[in-house]
Amino acid sequence: MATFKEFRNNVKPNWCPGCGDFSIQAAIQRAAANVGLEPEQLAVISGIGCSGRISGYVNAYGFHGIHGRALPIAQGVKLANRDLTVIASGGDGDGFAIGMGHTVHAIRRNVNMTYIVMDNQIYGLTKGQTSPRSAVGFKTKSTPEGSVETTLAPLEIALAAGATFVAQSFSSDLKQLTSLIEQGINHEGFSLINVFSPCVTFNKINTYDWFKENIVNLATVEGYDPTNRVMAMTKLMETNGMITGLIYQDTSRRSYENLVPGFSQESLAHHDLTLSEDDFNGL
Ligand code: SF4
Ligand code: MG
Repeated sequence: MATFKEFRNNVKPNWCPGCGDFSIQAAIQRAAANVGLEPEQLAVISGIGCSGRISGYVNAYGFHGIHGRALPIAQGVKLANRDLTVIASGGDGDGFAIGMGHTVHAIRRNVNMTYIVMDNQIYGLTKGQTSPRSAVGFKTKSTPEGSVETTLAPLEIALAAGATFVAQSFSSDLKQLTSLIEQGINHEGFSLINVFSPCVTFNKINTYDWFKENIVNLATVEGYDPTNRVMAMTKLMETNGMITGLIYQDTSRRSYENLVPGFSQESLAHHDLTLSEDDFNGL
């Protein structure tokens, strides 16, 4: 069985020292090993952004896609080869701005895969512009007077879109993050895991200390029931989305490929299609 070290390659990440994305890379590698995968059983598909580099930093199949399009590619990979475990990853700009249409429809489609969003509440790769996750009043070069747009609440949108697995974590909490990725991989259906991942270079507001002060870990909330969709929505609204842990899981729904006959494990697409001479008899 592979250890997490076997999911490392010799590519040195060029993230800034201290970037939250390092821990997400480590958590993916640990979770993959913990669920018993071998590197050749995993595919990591990413979009564009600092976070998008992740597909090159994990020893597995990888595809660095185009901006906002990691999910169509990842769903295609999964439907073409159901034996692969597929993880898609990208940033908040990638998944919740240009890619939001894909995100919502991937959620309601419910293909069996895991989507990890590295949410730093800013555009990092392009040197610090306001993202859909930035707070009202957030000042950057793109909003010098402060952003007047409402901050997007992606996990509330996910619940409204019929998500079957919604979780959130913080890159500093490697143990919780690794466990949630394992749960996401083991969940049958589309698992959305949003991860607060500080951009230490451009976001001087949403820092490690700021997240530590503002996050509520659901493990400390008495009576919280992650199978209760109304409770999940209420908690997200009450806390302005600042909760971590497993927020919602519905295990009653089958994944897309288990409901559509053409993609089922037994379908023709998964049979040996080699033709023999007999197949041509009578033609
Ligand atoms: Fe990370 Fe920000 Fe540096 Fe990008 S710019 S690598 S998000 S710290
Ligand atoms: Mg971002």
